[in-house]
Amino acid sequence: MHEGSIARGIIEVVEREAQELTEVLKVRVRIGKLHAVVPDALTFFFDVMKQGKLKNAVLEIEEVPVKGKCNRCGKEFEINEPLFLCPLCGSGDVEIKQGQEMHVVCIEGRKEDGDGKNKGS
Ligand SMILES: [Zn+2]
Repeated sequence: MHEGSIARGIIEVVEREAQELTEVLKVRVRIGKLHAVVPDALTFFFDVMKQGKLKNAVLEIEEVPVKGKCNRCGKEFEINEPLFLCPLCGSGDVEIKQGQEMHVVCIEGRKEDGDGKNKGS
């Protein structure tokens, strides 16, 4: 279970990025499935740890499928198994092209005056 430390990392990023906001309402993260994060567990830890201006923040998790590229035949494919084998030629020489990402993509909240301000990253 590494969701606890990931939730803490997300909160740290949001606190750093959202300094001009008085209240954070929504945090959207993009996480590659290679990290094997359980979204429900991550949401749970986030809800337990959030405080201060993040108290009412809702965590939205966008999962990115793992994609690989076979170095032998060049085929790109989605990987759902722990063993990375090319479905076309069976080669194990596979390069991970996608699925390792983990970032906060969007922070929404409220400023001192006005509402509904968006902030990208
Ligand atoms: Zn191949």
